[in-house]
Amino acid sequence: MIKFLRLTFLRPVERFLAQWISVSTEPSAFVRERIRLGDTTNFLKQLKRESLSSVCLRLQFPLKHANCTSSDCLLSCGRPSVHRADEVNAKAWAAFAVVVVAALGATVGPAASEEAAPDGIEIVDVPLIAWVTSRAHALADSLVNFTTADGRTEQFREFIEKLATLDRTRAAELAKDLHYQLVEIDEDGKKYLVASDDSGSGRDPTIVINTAPARDIILEAPHVPFEFGTAEQAVILLRDLDGVAALVSGAHRCASKSFTACDGKTEVCTPGTQRQFPDSDAGHNTRTLFHTAHLVLADHWNKAIVVSLHGMGDDNDGLRTSLIISDGARAEDLDRTHPATKLRVAMEDVAAPGKVVSCNLLADEQHEAPPLCGFTNIQDRNVNGDADECRDSVDQGTGRFIHMEQDKILRKPYAQNWSHIEDDAFAKRLIEAFKSVVPANP
Ligand SMILES: [Zn+2]
Repeated sequence: MIKFLRLTFLRPVERFLAQWISVSTEPSAFVRERIRLGDTTNFLKQLKRESLSSVCLRLQFPLKHANCTSSDCLLSCGRPSVHRADEVNAKAWAAFAVVVVAALGATVGPAASEEAAPDGIEIVDVPLIAWVTSRAHALADSLVNFTTADGRTEQFREFIEKLATLDRTRAAELAKDLHYQLVEIDEDGKKYLVASDDSGSGRDPTIVINTAPARDIILEAPHVPFEFGTAEQAVILLRDLDGVAALVSGAHRCASKSFTACDGKTEVCTPGTQRQFPDSDAGHNTRTLFHTAHLVLADHWNKAIVVSLHGMGDDNDGLRTSLIISDGARAEDLDRTHPATKLRVAMEDVAAPGKVVSCNLLADEQHEAPPLCGFTNIQDRNVNGDADECRDSVDQGTGRFIHMEQDKILRKPYAQNWSHIEDDAFAKRLIEAFKSVVPANP
């Protein structure tokens, strides 16, 4: 109960009240709404497993709605957007919540309101994956464009630099200016800094920094929430490989109605019609804060392997493929020295419905896998040394990049059972393969 109070009163009472009403009137509808919006599907399972975390999560979980843009989204839009049909019940809960708050008021003074590290960064007692995957995402088709002012980009660059160097005090200052929420999560004795968009818009990315990493690997999920399971997978790989950082997109790749200046065509947002990538697609626009964060992280840990995690539809055309691994460059990796190729070899006989193939092994061409090799992905091009990552693909790369396209069956355990991911044969095998391909630092 004490812990509960500490968590709930991290926020002002009135905001707590709004959140309480929003999530308490009809939790199952609330959870269904999250799923419908393409948000985290493991939310419900976690609610059942850990009652304390569930309380915290439910209070923290942003009730996003297309019409909500202000930071007080919860207060102004949370209830109507989720519980339109349940006004009476909501009023009853409001009355109850007032009583509860009044009753608790005497015991909750300002001094007991929060636990903070010495640098002022809020400590939250929530599983790392639950926290990251419950961040907000701007929904498909919800934004006119995805422009970011130059000043914000510059400030954000400094913010990520300060996070990377663990300058907590300056990072906390910058977080405030940028409308970012910066928290620390302690999991199994390991400390992570997590920075997420706190503007209420769900536009910008979430960054997770491992404060004591053991392996030079950066995990990126640029297509969250569109490609389910990839956010959970990025954080699980970061945690279990003891990597340096994870980067998860904010806005849905199809959030914006405007287009990127970079090359490449897709029909993901307009099925049946090939068009340019929307500028909200973090993998295809150099002018997003996702890419800014990528540039800083990949430069700060300039030997680190950068992994870009993706989800593809099931490959039902000819020989089935479940996992396509690429080093992001067009050339064959003849000597099989690139980590991407090594990963493909290490995953050779994994039990999956379809084959595991590489874009850089001629021998794998016989499988006629879908051409999903990341050649137009700008983080790929950057890490592979491209002079113009917006326009040119790379023939011969640096070997620092791994692009993974995974079918739905492989991603499902991450999305739906992440708290028991060690029970999944593919996930377990992937961790082992990564450990053999990217050795721990001496
Ligand atoms: Zn993708």
